[in-house]
Amino acid sequence: MDARLEFFLMSKKINIPVKGQKPPPGKGSSTGDKVFSGPSWRDLPDQQGYYGKFGGAFIPEMLFPNVEQLRTRYLEIIHEPSFQKEFRSLLKDFAGRPTPLYLARRLSSKYNTEIFLKREDLCHTGAHKINNTIGQILLALRLGKRRIIAETGAGQHGVATATVCAMKGVECIVYMGEKDMERQAPNVARMKMLGAKVVPARSGSKTLKDATNEAIRDWINNPVDTHYIIGSVVGPHPYPDMVARFQSVISEEIRLQLLEKTGNELPTHVIACVGGGSNAAGSFYHFLDEGSVELIGVEAAGHGVNSGLSAATTFLGKEGVLHGSRSLVMQTPDGQVIEPHSISAGLDYPGIGPLHAQLYTTGRATFLNATDEESLAAAFELARLEGIIPALESAHALAALEQLQFNEKDTVVLCLSGRGDKDLATYMGAMKEGGTPG
Ligand SMILES: *Cc1c(COP(=O)(O)O)cnc(C)c1O
Repeated sequence: MDARLEFFLMSKKINIPVKGQKPPPGKGSSTGDKVFSGPSWRDLPDQQGYYGKFGGAFIPEMLFPNVEQLRTRYLEIIHEPSFQKEFRSLLKDFAGRPTPLYLARRLSSKYNTEIFLKREDLCHTGAHKINNTIGQILLALRLGKRRIIAETGAGQHGVATATVCAMKGVECIVYMGEKDMERQAPNVARMKMLGAKVVPARSGSKTLKDATNEAIRDWINNPVDTHYIIGSVVGPHPYPDMVARFQSVISEEIRLQLLEKTGNELPTHVIACVGGGSNAAGSFYHFLDEGSVELIGVEAAGHGVNSGLSAATTFLGKEGVLHGSRSLVMQTPDGQVIEPHSISAGLDYPGIGPLHAQLYTTGRATFLNATDEESLAAAFELARLEGIIPALESAHALAALEQLQFNEKDTVVLCLSGRGDKDLATYMGAMKEGGTPG
């Protein structure tokens, strides 16, 4: 592997002059029901893409023109009225927004509180990922790009990208590890049917990391006509902020829907699973400065946080640079990235986005984790209590309900990030082995 293309542990950093850097919000922002008075989370990231000490843009020099163009243009473009008009209209008529906020009565009575499910599973293509790919394709077209590349692990981000490219008539190339292509054949077929070219990554472990390296190589070779759509709140600045903004429609809708349903737009708890952290960032976004709202991220514990087979980054991670930004990363003492494990492909990631690293470090959000087994049980519980089969990723957020103490008067919002169709083989396996969990 060409060292310049190794996106992991990149040492080169873009130096962008700092204008009016704001101090990171202090711990005070996480306490109680007082009116928020500290610096606003809305002032983050700063001009260089930092959330406190996390974030930034650690990229090979050859990527500088692409990333710099995005950095200087993204805010101006997404605030244009014509962009907002087209984005909102596609979210509504193409993706099917607003997604319902559903009061799950039987689940609520089991946990003796009031639990609302934010139904991202009802989005077109089956998960929240389309919110971001719609935003990025519109941005790419306004930057004059006519060719889209993406990396994908399980294929969910690849399908969401192929979908918006077909809708806009734009060339789409998705890099996917050869091993993942075998494991996720239905998603490969979907992408091909949508007209995307799926390119196997044959280096290394032939999985997501290798697909990412191939996508970077492509972007370096095609700096003028190509936009790289990253699927979560990770990557070099401005990706984490850009993706969080596109996903923030989730919490924007939650506030309006809660106000309508309960007379109060603020819940007591917001719970979401965290792979890279995009559905969580979107669910938290409009509550970050509301100190009374408890924010809870749930990571994948795999076989258990101390088993060596896990993806619980806040529990195991240390500061480091991964995929172009400084964050918490699962790594050995000498900085080698540890292979993560989770039963759910979307949470099988050795890092978290820099916003989440800062939320964790300042105590503004609490991070829990759920094992493979607990998550399977939670998926079956939701299916039988509510008639909803969740994605395995979302089942991790559901599993955390067991670990929390609720009051009858609490209003809990849980982001159901996706639907379980893609996980049916795993659910069938679980039923065969142990009868029926849950
Ligand atoms: C990809 C995916 C996730 C994890 O990604 P985040 O960026 O952490 O949201 C969670 N749920 C579903 C259904 C996914 O497809």
